[in-house]
Amino acid sequence: MTNKKSSEFIPGKVIQCTKHVRRVLAPNPSMMTGPGTNTYILGTGDIAILDPGPKNKAHLEALLEATEGETVRLILSTHTHNDHSPGTVPLVEALQNERKQVDPIEIIGLPASLHNGSPLSSHDRSFEPTRLPKHGDIFTLNGLTIEAICTPGHASNHVCYFLQEEKLLLTGDHIMDGSTVVIAPPDGDMKAYIESLELLYTYDIQQFAPAHGNLIDTPKELVKATIAHRLKREAKVVAAMKSKPNSTIKELVTTVYDDTPPFLHPVAEFSLLAHIIKLKADGRAEENSDRWQLV
Ligand SMILES: [Zn+2]
Repeated sequence: MTNKKSSEFIPGKVIQCTKHVRRVLAPNPSMMTGPGTNTYILGTGDIAILDPGPKNKAHLEALLEATEGETVRLILSTHTHNDHSPGTVPLVEALQNERKQVDPIEIIGLPASLHNGSPLSSHDRSFEPTRLPKHGDIFTLNGLTIEAICTPGHASNHVCYFLQEEKLLLTGDHIMDGSTVVIAPPDGDMKAYIESLELLYTYDIQQFAPAHGNLIDTPKELVKATIAHRLKREAKVVAAMKSKPNSTIKELVTTVYDDTPPFLHPVAEFSLLAHIIKLKADGRAEENSDRWQLV
């Protein structure tokens, strides 16, 4: 995948993605976030804001400017990683105190999980939803229909939102444009992730709007390629465990990720652990004092 319109990755600039969806990029580019976190604005007049992003004054001001004269009815959260939801509290405060919005704001999302995340992706505990979305829940907004699709895997509390009128899936971090999604245990779960990818086949999706990167026009192909990529890696894990039985994650990572630059191996160790935990859940691997072997 390539970013076709990289010139559009300017923090604070409002990009009209589709008829009903606008995007404002947060100024938080990094190895983990790519160009930064996309905050999406759904609808016109009565609007929803999806993933307010990190707690950042410039981003908050950009969101307020982008939505001037409009009423924020819903705030939707895909998950509570620190680049996605910490902007919620300051946004609600600014809407109520500065903009003097009196209409209620429904905050929809699942709160930080009971896990502590991982060193790679800690959870935002300031996020307090007013409503917990259940799989299949529908939210309506001035003629738009938004369906919650629970997609645990990248995070245990991950939810995608399907804008039915445009057949557009707001994927959060379930699918990214141009990079591999990190699955970091204990909160990240590879088995759940692959199942949540397969779940997407059951929806008539025309486009993905990811939290990082551009719109993706080939959703089915990308899901298929992503699952194939993960299963190919799993096969490599099994082969490495066969040739190096009773090894630690650190001992296995150099073999399993021999196609990845060594400076990324500390990150890859999380994905490797996620694969091995999946193998354990499938009854194919077992652990003995941090050493793993095939059953
Ligand atoms: Zn995330």
